[in-house]
Amino acid sequence: MHPTLIAQIAKHLPDVNLKDAGLQALLGAISLHYDTMERDKRLTEHAFEVSEREYQEILNDLRRENELKQESISKIKAATQALNPNPSPSEQGELKGEELLDVIRFLEQQIQETKHLEEELLKAKEAAESSSKAKSNFLSVMSHEIRTPLNAIIGYIHLLSNENSHQTQEEYLKAISISSQNLLNLVNDILDFSKIEEGRIEFQMRKINVRNMVQELKLANAFKASERENKITVMLDQDLPEHVLGDEVRLSQILNNLISNAIKFTNGGQISIEINKISENNTKVCLQFKVKDTGVGIAPEAKSIIFERFTQANSEINRQYGGSGLGLSIVKKLLELQGKTIELESELGKGSTFFFDMSFEKDPDEDSQRGKNPEKQAPDLSGVRILLVEDMYLNSIMAKTMLSNWKAEVELAENGQIALEMFKERHYDLILMDLQMPVMDGITATIKIRSLDPKVPIIALTASSSFETQNEIKSSGMDDYISKPFNPYSLFETIKKYVKVEYTNY
Ligand code: ADP
Repeated sequence: MHPTLIAQIAKHLPDVNLKDAGLQALLGAISLHYDTMERDKRLTEHAFEVSEREYQEILNDLRRENELKQESISKIKAATQALNPNPSPSEQGELKGEELLDVIRFLEQQIQETKHLEEELLKAKEAAESSSKAKSNFLSVMSHEIRTPLNAIIGYIHLLSNENSHQTQEEYLKAISISSQNLLNLVNDILDFSKIEEGRIEFQMRKINVRNMVQELKLANAFKASERENKITVMLDQDLPEHVLGDEVRLSQILNNLISNAIKFTNGGQISIEINKISENNTKVCLQFKVKDTGVGIAPEAKSIIFERFTQANSEINRQYGGSGLGLSIVKKLLELQGKTIELESELGKGSTFFFDMSFEKDPDEDSQRGKNPEKQAPDLSGVRILLVEDMYLNSIMAKTMLSNWKAEVELAENGQIALEMFKERHYDLILMDLQMPVMDGITATIKIRSLDPKVPIIALTASSSFETQNEIKSSGMDDYISKPFNPYSLFETIKKYVKVEYTNY
């Protein structure tokens, strides 16, 4: 029995014979009610944190319990009346009918309160939903505002480093490139956090060159590593496939979080990034990724908490190393969403190893690519006429230069309206379409172009990563999208899906 009820019986009904069956049933129902009340209170307090599915389960539970209580009250009422139809004031040691009815009234009143709680829960949920919508809109706008200039910076660095630049200029460019890439990673972490938390992300199936990806990650972290006198080594299985199909952005995000932690918590030591093939069949390959360091290590009691959001191993960590405590929770969640777990082996003072495995679809073109050296190849878009629709001058010139370098014939339109007029006049093999533009946005322009030509490939260029945007892109009739800032490799790989082009040797 609930402790509060025991105390109340001792206080108010000291002389009552508790063995009576009807009374036992009543006390059981009251006790259950106390337990439920406590739980309801806890749930209301946490209403802002429960997910849609949990919320539905809670609501169903509440309703079921209310029904049960109603049922037991009716039974008790009937039992009480049968037991004691005409209670006399002289009956000592037994519960009087009037008192029982009081308790029942009390119980009924409590049920009304539970119903009220249910309504409160509903209101809390609605409030939480609208605030989460505002948050998601805010993040989407921020995402666009921050990623758009970053897109231009990263693209121009790429173009400049292709020019014959002086050696010192090249070093500066590399530094700017690394810093902007780091800034982009940080922005991605912060902006993506709520999306990842809510599981509102879709994983892409695009070609990943695993070796290049790891080398790029090593390069991006080299400066930070050397500042702490750490050495980064990459150890790749001889037998790795040239390409796999998966989500490069998310995989890099996971690895980058682990690598930057390894560097941060190691001084004058070794960081190694290892990739091994675990298994393979005709269509899939499973790879294990490991990030090892010889740094400060993690105490056994901290091993589980560090994967929680905003938590660090101990209070000293923030003072010494800074950090948001978001990195590992993003890693954990991104892997969970793909049905995988992050593993950790660590010893204080000796170092840590974070590892996970991941399955990928194999690249069906792999056999035809085998033997070709991708580093000696350049994208070739000869004979492809592209309409590039982009209002930001810097971004459009950057993308145009990149595409022209690959020998494409590129024409620019500053907004959707101009693009529509140009499309009516000439044939284009492919359209690259920005979304947010003055006069006519990319979605409207796509719908209008689609009504004229259902086939021409249209690829969105978007700085927004929101779920809503991805849905809009799909339903407007676009074939694909590229997230800004895009790397040249993924731009070419996406275009290659829609027009017949290849890499050529140079
Ligand atoms: P942040 O690095 O911003 O603090 P994370 O979520 O990435 O946030 O990491 C949480 C905590 O886990 C860190 O504060 C640190 O205490 C611990 N940690 C993560 N990686 C390592 C590592 N390689 N070596 C030692 N401690 C680590």
